[in-house]
Amino acid sequence: MSGDVDVAIVGAGAAGLAAALRARDFGLSFVVLEAKDRIGGRAFTDTETFGTPWDRGAHWLHSAAINPLTRVAEALGQPYLKRESFRNRNLHLGSRWASADEREDCNTAMDAAFEAVDELGAQGLDVPAARALDPSNRWYRLIEHVHEAISAFPPERISTLDLYRYYDSGENWPLINGYGALVAAYGASVPVSLNMPVTEIELAGKGVALATPGGTVRARAVIVTVSTNVLASGRIRFAHGLPAELQRALEGVPTGGANKIAFQFSRNVFDLPDTSYASFMDERDPARHAMSFQIRPFGKELAIAYFGGRFAEEMEAAGEAASIETARATLAEMFGTSILDHLVKTAATAWCGDPHTLGAYASALPGHAADRAALAEPVDGKLYLAGEAVHPTWFSTVQGAYLSGIDAMERVAASFNRCP
Ligand SMILES: Cc1cc2nc3c(=O)[nH]c(=O)nc-3n(C[C@H](O)[C@H](O)[C@H](O)COP(=O)(O)OP(=O)(O)OC[C@H]3O[C@@H](n4cnc5c(N)ncnc54)[C@H](O)[C@@H]3O)c2cc1C
Repeated sequence: MSGDVDVAIVGAGAAGLAAALRARDFGLSFVVLEAKDRIGGRAFTDTETFGTPWDRGAHWLHSAAINPLTRVAEALGQPYLKRESFRNRNLHLGSRWASADEREDCNTAMDAAFEAVDELGAQGLDVPAARALDPSNRWYRLIEHVHEAISAFPPERISTLDLYRYYDSGENWPLINGYGALVAAYGASVPVSLNMPVTEIELAGKGVALATPGGTVRARAVIVTVSTNVLASGRIRFAHGLPAELQRALEGVPTGGANKIAFQFSRNVFDLPDTSYASFMDERDPARHAMSFQIRPFGKELAIAYFGGRFAEEMEAAGEAASIETARATLAEMFGTSILDHLVKTAATAWCGDPHTLGAYASALPGHAADRAALAEPVDGKLYLAGEAVHPTWFSTVQGAYLSGIDAMERVAASFNRCP
């Protein structure tokens, strides 16, 4: 494992793989060190649990028409479903399905809520998104749920300025074989040292030294792509500590929670078209959190619940059995208990407890929107951070991670006076 290279890359998710492939264009030698036994990081398609692919992490090509990974998918022959945005077409209110007028009312309230948050951000205000929202609005719990799904934090912990800077074209196209499968295909040619967690980084003399179970790797520069929570947690020790400003920035842009619970049925139990979406907000019980489901993605006998933020953290903390039971009961309320006669298997993700991610994606806390740019500042001209959290407008996405990996490698190459 020990050896000398131009660049060491820590992490083989979208950012690390993109950085490695860009290094090739510059003729730079590199090593990619990955703690897990697989590549892809938070883009991971599980083919084993159900015998058919489903994404435990990233699923949609966000801003799909201009997402660079849409072109990558086309080049690699990874099909996606080009579809219109998933507005609330199926909304269950606890005892009945919402009418078309109610759904329209909900969609209008949702748009108005995001516009109100954006208005504060557009004024340069770096305050909690909650300040723009009205908890007495009939649809507030769904509004809260969608904010949590997008930002992985509840509205009180989302910066209006940060969310305003996020770019979203509104096109969300799911990958039929999985986003994780796309990232794995994209990075297939990259040599990666798996099961190789970096435990310590020393910015030493002219280069860097990385401690791993396989020995010390020396490089002229290092690109670290792990999540902000992993880095802030000290799981990778920095021999001389991280600069205080960077440590503060990592804490200002923490990685929030998002999880999925998947159900497999033996036959079609839903009276809905393939790849439908259905939301749940129990009007009878205001204490109950809203939830949304993908129903029969691509015609598979699956239903996948999705939720983020505090609710995701609480569900994960309650344990797998309890969280599956909560989502299962919700699904049965929506579609009738008889569907459970055909339930064959369940699975739940636990991204907050995953020691290599410690969360799902990063969001700036109120008052901390500027911290994102601070994350991108190199340390000593040798340590570069990359990954979804670092991208200025496409954070929390695979394409943001991918672009930040390319950008970090280009900056390393420029520091070596290398041209592609
Ligand atoms: C439930 C969920 C749903 C999502 N949905 C979408 C979606 O629909 N569309 C979308 O665009 N994005 C989505 N995302 C976000 C997207 O998955 C991430 O933004 C993106 O994959 C992050 O890539 P990355 O390279 O920045 O980080 P990662 O993928 O986390 O890569 C970092 C790598 O570093 C490794 N690592 C950690 N510690 C060490 C160490 N000490 N040494 C070596 N390696 C280490 C990790 O194992 C990991 O492989 C979702 C994420 C989740 C969790």
